[in-house]
Amino acid sequence: MITARPVAILSDNYAWLLRDDASGATAIVDPAEVAPIAAAIDAAGGRLDLILLTHHHADHIAGAEAIRARYGARMVGAAADVARLPPLDQAVAEGDTVMLGSAAARVIDTPGHTRGHISYFFPDGDVLLCGDTLFSLGCGRLLEGTPAEMFASLHKLAVLPGDTLICCGHEYTESNARFAVHADPTNPALAEFAARVRATRAAGRPTLPSRLAEELEANPFLRAPDVAGFADLRARKDRF
Ligand code: ZN
Ligand code: FE
Repeated sequence: MITARPVAILSDNYAWLLRDDASGATAIVDPAEVAPIAAAIDAAGGRLDLILLTHHHADHIAGAEAIRARYGARMVGAAADVARLPPLDQAVAEGDTVMLGSAAARVIDTPGHTRGHISYFFPDGDVLLCGDTLFSLGCGRLLEGTPAEMFASLHKLAVLPGDTLICCGHEYTESNARFAVHADPTNPALAEFAARVRATRAAGRPTLPSRLAEELEANPFLRAPDVAGFADLRARKDRF
């Protein structure tokens, strides 16, 4: 089974340290900074088998080559974006499998934030690494994709099991909650979620991972009924 732990890096990013408990194999997702990630890997035993990249932005890949040089891990990223990623050992696309020890991740193409954005889902542990596609109570900005593309990407993630752990790339949840409550002021599940998020951040703890089932009840971007509704919501959030 895969367990996932956030490693806080930069100002508000998370890299994710994954471990397959059957084999002890370890992965890091989106290692954009070396020192805190090396410290987390070393504290977990100093083993690194795999580097998983979700998309090409510097706040997700900046430390990847240095981490690979230090630990000798295999680097995996989107075939669609090889020109903008560090040299990959495995270039992947929709439906491909990536092994971490004895656990298999399925690759899900999730364009919208960027053209080549991918997500990784480990059914054994219900762990979803979704980068800047789905955030807790929010979603990524449409920097290279259309509303229709992002809407479709979010709905590929929305059909995963309800217990899926949302391991995304940023601690944006508290500010996302402010917009979400503004957009959907009468949703009791959202009000309760937002109160919990404020308490968690006040205590200095990460709000992630969240569970997909609670996002489906509270996240307005997952609850938008159609592409037009989603596009309107995304545009309002950009101005909020
Ligand atoms: Zn990004
Ligand atoms: Fe980012």
